[in-house]
Amino acid sequence: MPLDPARTVAELKQLRELTGDENGAQRVAWTETWESARGWLREKLAGLPLEEEIDEAGNQWWTLRGVSERELLIGGHIDSVPNGGWLDGALNVVAGVEVMRRLAEDGEPELTVRLVNWADEEGARFGRSLFGSSAAAGSMDDQVELRQRHDADGGVLPDVLAACGVELDRALEARSQLENAAAYLELHIEQGPVLESMDLPLGVVLGTFGVERHQVTFTGQAAHAGSTPMDKRRDALAGAAKLELEIREIAKRTGEGAVCTMGGVVTKPGIVTSVVETAECLLDQRHLDATKLAEMLSNAEAASRRFAQEEDVEVSWERIWNIEPILFDEALIELADESIREVAGKSHRLPSGPLHDAAEVARAGVPTVMLFVQSLRGLSHTKLEDTEEEHLELSVQALDRLADKTIARVAAG
Ligand SMILES: [Zn+2]
Repeated sequence: MPLDPARTVAELKQLRELTGDENGAQRVAWTETWESARGWLREKLAGLPLEEEIDEAGNQWWTLRGVSERELLIGGHIDSVPNGGWLDGALNVVAGVEVMRRLAEDGEPELTVRLVNWADEEGARFGRSLFGSSAAAGSMDDQVELRQRHDADGGVLPDVLAACGVELDRALEARSQLENAAAYLELHIEQGPVLESMDLPLGVVLGTFGVERHQVTFTGQAAHAGSTPMDKRRDALAGAAKLELEIREIAKRTGEGAVCTMGGVVTKPGIVTSVVETAECLLDQRHLDATKLAEMLSNAEAASRRFAQEEDVEVSWERIWNIEPILFDEALIELADESIREVAGKSHRLPSGPLHDAAEVARAGVPTVMLFVQSLRGLSHTKLEDTEEEHLELSVQALDRLADKTIARVAAG
């Protein structure tokens, strides 16, 4: 069976029909719709000489035995955010199905090839992203906290997972899945505007940004809005406002894709008749270079202290979460570049702002690379998410070529 990229597009539409509604994709992990998407995927692969397995973290694996026990992994996630797009995550599992068909038809591959559908990449229901891949990578270290997590309806994480056959306490046993992994490939929509602005269908991902996430709290003094002269105020919001403008300058000065976002500010008492006493800011900073990321953070800290002094308020920092930049494998980046040039003429290398399952796999020491396909208007996590069908087809071809090149390289090495 030769590769049929148009079939991938048709199957993605089928999946959209089956698991979406007028508001978009509804394949939230650990729900019935998600289970039905997993069942759909199983049907697509039925009839191929593959072994299916669901690991301790709920990841769904299909294995095509090859000459060698060493494995090429192709992975994506079929779960979506609520009211999500039709391509985020699903593109790679469905494209992976097509590559598996082609490989199975060609006879026993040099390497064992496995397709993985990671469980709960989005973390939409419990606020914990990359669940299945972090378990397989062995980097999941928050099980105590996960035990307490609940969804909007009060469902507790361990119970909801148990209903899907996953025991939280055993999730880390999924680590054994990566034991023979020699390479990991993931195709994903870009979810940003870069490739479209360059008029390129495909790009190679260099790695995922490191992230520093902090709560920055400015503390002043609540005081009557009418009786407190302007020069006597200790206005916490003034410090926060200055910081919000400064982080944009910090990102601009740092460059190379640097991004800084103040995603929220909560002010207290938060009434129109009072000067703001506390302003709690949520700050997110990202860069592909660890040194630059650390610099951006210390620049923001220094600026916040300066503004606090200027406004006669206090400032404190608390880290919410961080992750180091994760760089993909240089040799695989070359092969990915080659594959893209073969199918689309021109390639481009870019970092990924969003995290992906690939970051967890790379963190576990498996040589990894990702391909991005252009997203129209850079939109994702919305029903407006889209990619031209012609570009989707090119992406399936590029993934297929990359799979072959990777097999050849690993088998030769
Ligand atoms: Zn995704």
